[in-house]
Amino acid sequence: MTAAITLRGLVRHFGDVRAVDGVDLDIAEGEFFSMLGPSGSGKTTVLRLIAGFEQATTGQVLLAGRDVTALPPYARDVNTVFQDYALFPHMSVRENVEYGLRVKKVPAGDRRRRATEALAAVRLEAYGERRPQQLSGGQRQRVALARALVNRPSVLLLDEPLGALDLKLRREMQVELKQLQREVGITFVFVTHDQEEALTMSDRIAVFNAGRIEQVASPTELYESPATSFVAGFVGTSNLLTGAAAERIMGRPGTFSVRPEKIHLDGPSPRVSGTVTGVVYLGSVNHYIVDVDGGDTLTVLRQNLHGGADQLVTQGQRVDLSWHEEHVIDLSPQERGHLGASHALSAQSNKETP
Ligand code: ATP
Repeated sequence: MTAAITLRGLVRHFGDVRAVDGVDLDIAEGEFFSMLGPSGSGKTTVLRLIAGFEQATTGQVLLAGRDVTALPPYARDVNTVFQDYALFPHMSVRENVEYGLRVKKVPAGDRRRRATEALAAVRLEAYGERRPQQLSGGQRQRVALARALVNRPSVLLLDEPLGALDLKLRREMQVELKQLQREVGITFVFVTHDQEEALTMSDRIAVFNAGRIEQVASPTELYESPATSFVAGFVGTSNLLTGAAAERIMGRPGTFSVRPEKIHLDGPSPRVSGTVTGVVYLGSVNHYIVDVDGGDTLTVLRQNLHGGADQLVTQGQRVDLSWHEEHVIDLSPQERGHLGASHALSAQSNKETP
């Protein structure tokens, strides 16, 4: 199967800044693919290279197998949705959605029909005659989506499209966006620095660090089997143990990670003991900061089953910590044989996505 997008040895330098520093990637047709990473890691630049707003220093961009590296944005079968929506304030919602088709000189009847379809896809049929400023943030975001979908691109590029929304609306839009992507079947490439957002929506995620990809995997695989300390630390909360701490707590040298929810307080066969030095109440769960005897700190997560600040564990209390061996993620270099491998589809894991 030909990939929807192929990046080969992609590099973009700005003077001394290695914004994108050698990216190889295949994104499958119909995939919801996220690019996740901290600010400045190169995600947006990769997106702009795919769209054609940016020229590669070296390397290639292929869309459906065709080399488009030298083509301008309008000659590429992709559309981009930006964080700031970029709607025209003086036009109605419908005019905004039809605008791209008008530029392409699509006849009026066709234009109208396709705009109606696109507005229906984002459930804004009833809002066509409004102006953008008469809409909520989430509705404006949906207009921006409709305006991209109306062109029926093979690939939709989304650059932090939910960044301007409050948390509740953002969560709602995440569900809607994923549903929309399933309905239209278009390949989505989604840029975000929000790991929870990426985990919620994606079929696969590429984790970026300093212009390179650290790992490409399904959300479950990324969380359960991070390939590097960077991924373990960036995706979810992680207890990273290395050097003397690893030897003391894991009983052997290396680099290890244990997720806070995999550590049990006062479970059977404790591995280490310590003192609770912090209780962070987060509503549905509590985080316990435990200073382990010998000088290290572990974060433990427990569901808040007892209401309020959990009655059973309080600051200053002595606790025993236990975990199952299979929940220890070994990040020691010799365990990371797959690092540096290409991110081609053929190398994709068969693990399920949730
Ligand atoms: P964010 O999440 O903050 O948007 P990002 O991962 O998308 O970050 P990019 O915007 O791709 O990161 O930027 C990668 C690096 O390239 C940064 O150091 C940035 O300052 C630099 N950079 C991006 N565009 C340019 C430019 N036009 N000129 C010079 N440097 C640039």
